[in-house]
Amino acid sequence: MTKKLYYESAYIREWKTQITRRLEREDGTYLVLNETAFYPHGGGQPCDLGWINKIPVLDVVLEEGEILHKVEHSPEVEEVDCRLHWDRRFDHMQQHSGQHLLSAMCLEACQAETLSFHLGEDYATIDVARPDLPKDQLMMLELEVNDQIYLNRKVTNYVVTQAQAAELPLVKQPKVTDDIRIVEIEGIEYNACGGTHVSATGEIGMIKLLRAEKQKGHMRIYFKCGYRALNEFNAGVEILGSLAARFNTGKEEILDRIEKWDQEQKQLQAELNAVKAENDAYLAEKLLADRQGSLVKHVFTDKMLKDMQNLAAKLTEQGDVIVLFMSNSDHKVLLARGGEDGLACGAFFKQHLADYRGKGGGSDKMAQAGFATREDAEAFYQFAAESL
Ligand SMILES: [Zn+2]
Repeated sequence: MTKKLYYESAYIREWKTQITRRLEREDGTYLVLNETAFYPHGGGQPCDLGWINKIPVLDVVLEEGEILHKVEHSPEVEEVDCRLHWDRRFDHMQQHSGQHLLSAMCLEACQAETLSFHLGEDYATIDVARPDLPKDQLMMLELEVNDQIYLNRKVTNYVVTQAQAAELPLVKQPKVTDDIRIVEIEGIEYNACGGTHVSATGEIGMIKLLRAEKQKGHMRIYFKCGYRALNEFNAGVEILGSLAARFNTGKEEILDRIEKWDQEQKQLQAELNAVKAENDAYLAEKLLADRQGSLVKHVFTDKMLKDMQNLAAKLTEQGDVIVLFMSNSDHKVLLARGGEDGLACGAFFKQHLADYRGKGGGSDKMAQAGFATREDAEAFYQFAAESL
């Protein structure tokens, strides 16, 4: 059986050992080692990665008590040098140890038991047995956990018998019955846990609770510890800096500036709408004067579809007219008609669009289509003008 070095110390990151077994499977090559510090997937924690004789380790799994290391290819020798991807492992230690403290404080301060833990690539979560968790409680919890981090409490682990475990105030009953591994955070908790932890809470660095969300009747708390929390902070500072530069102000003023900018935008939009409505009235008058029979047609250099639709609606209010518009800038064609019945615009588009590589559709009263090129749009516009 492989000796599990990560149980002796979570800080072993380089070691020499021997390959005891090689397995060729459909999905790749696996090695069993005499001793390993590669932690397999388990207890909500992802596996370690690293190198065996400089050959990348792709996955580490636990199968019937045996640890299998999936490798890119098998080394030619028996004696190998192993090395962990330490940044990844230490990150897992920070998140996982932070989770112990967070769960302990959740239980103490909010009387909420932790139901599950997940350590993802980007953030970690715990689900706690509470129907809600208001923002002020979350902030209080964050402070409490950080207080415990800065007290730099010792984290130790040791193996006990079932009888010895029964004497300890364990967070929850262990699943195993012999050689129960206890993780003790001095003055906080005794937890039966097989994961990898830091040796003192100060190494967690800090914890940032990002948010809490309802999840099937429980609350899910999203958090980041250590370097992840620092990276989150840096990303926030970067965004704030860009916003401050964009609005030419200090970060304290940004929200006020955005609020003011928003008001200005609303006012500008209202003014623009009024001008467009006025312009449409003149344009409608002119287009109606130039119409050929019941057909009102026009090619715009640059007019948004929404604006063409508004103008067409204004024209078709006049009764028995057919409106055909095209916008040169975005290769769009619009067809609309007034009156109770007559041309079915959507059906007309459906019948002929494919011949001009156009895509679109609409109702009996109004239809619109986009074209890959201006030439296609023009050809369809000409065809429609002649057909109608
Ligand atoms: Zn643990």
